[in-house]
Amino acid sequence: MRPPTTPLMSQRSHNFSAGPAVLPEPVLERIANELYDWAGTGVSVMEASHRSEAFIACAAEAEARVRRLLSVPEDYAVLFLQGGASLQFSATVMNLAPSGSLAFAETGAWSAKAYDAASKLAPVVRACTLERDAHGRSSIPSVADWAVSEDASYLHLCDNETISGVAWDDALLDDVQDRHPHLPLVADMSSSIMSRPVDVSRFQVIYAGAQKNMGPAGVTLVIASPDAIARSRAAASQIPNVLCWAAMADADSMLNTPPVFAWYVCGLVFEWVEAQGGVAAMQQRNRAQAARVYEAIDAHPACDNSVAERFRSIMNVPFVFRDERETAEFLAACQSQGLVGLKGHKSVGGCRASLYNALPDSAVDALLQQLRASAAKAAAADLGAA
Ligand SMILES: *Cc1c(COP(=O)(O)O)cnc(C)c1O
Repeated sequence: MRPPTTPLMSQRSHNFSAGPAVLPEPVLERIANELYDWAGTGVSVMEASHRSEAFIACAAEAEARVRRLLSVPEDYAVLFLQGGASLQFSATVMNLAPSGSLAFAETGAWSAKAYDAASKLAPVVRACTLERDAHGRSSIPSVADWAVSEDASYLHLCDNETISGVAWDDALLDDVQDRHPHLPLVADMSSSIMSRPVDVSRFQVIYAGAQKNMGPAGVTLVIASPDAIARSRAAASQIPNVLCWAAMADADSMLNTPPVFAWYVCGLVFEWVEAQGGVAAMQQRNRAQAARVYEAIDAHPACDNSVAERFRSIMNVPFVFRDERETAEFLAACQSQGLVGLKGHKSVGGCRASLYNALPDSAVDALLQQLRASAAKAAAADLGAA
């Protein structure tokens, strides 16, 4: 039997979901085409043994693409694990087996969750929490004011807070490393990995769930320095094998059955990112899209993004209206035009537009149209009320 050949893209929505999230359409087409007979095996990738030659080649190619896309230093390990970024909140502590306390930059909900998870396993200290700037907007305090003890084993940070839309920038990383040159850095990059170039060598460990910017849920990328792997190896007798980075590195992430489908799709997405020009090209497009969305929000009389300009995320743009009714009206108008996934996280309400790599410019055009229509309506209502 052949795969169905109906036009695939006829019913596509503009998908602003925060995760699982939009995938590149050419990747979806490729999956559909390969589903019945993958790589000449006569079975789908979901039905193939992870020990088969075809899958081992597919897995290795995905790893090689990660290494190229992010210029991962050769001696770093690149792992494809399960359990989501959430399991790495704990696995990082178990593998790095810190002797001192752990410092956490708490810049939003995800870094707070990482802090809570780590607090069950080791002494933890909040190095910083968000503050309000002169305009009442969320801001990360100056590193000079952080509480980082000299014996801290590492600093954990969340590169991009998916819920509140607060993101680190390179200058902040520079400040941290200037002040604390020997402090290893562990970064949760779940919602920003491959959205811009990063210097991987600055980090002891980077981890990221796939379902925001890389592929489907079910696989988690861990990029670990030689020092991190050595620590993991030393701690190996204390931790379950499937959580142990060193054991997983030794087994090419196949100590047990890996999430073959998710890994394969990630590989296709990496191939797509390379074809787009790599992460630098992604960054350009992401910046341009985000700038347009923030501009429309800032120009809207009834709409606000509450993050200081410097720390505004280019991946997740949360915005609130003055009241629930306006929020509901906006979401309904979007829904009717095929714009989905714009409802804000349940903990903060309002709206959120996630602008991941695979989001086409046409989706941003459609969103701007809705924001402008809503702005005109709000301005007219304000005039009527005056
Ligand atoms: C989504 C997300 C997580 C949680 O990922 P899971 O795969 O659901 O465990 C952690 N950190 C950040 C920054 C996220 O965006």
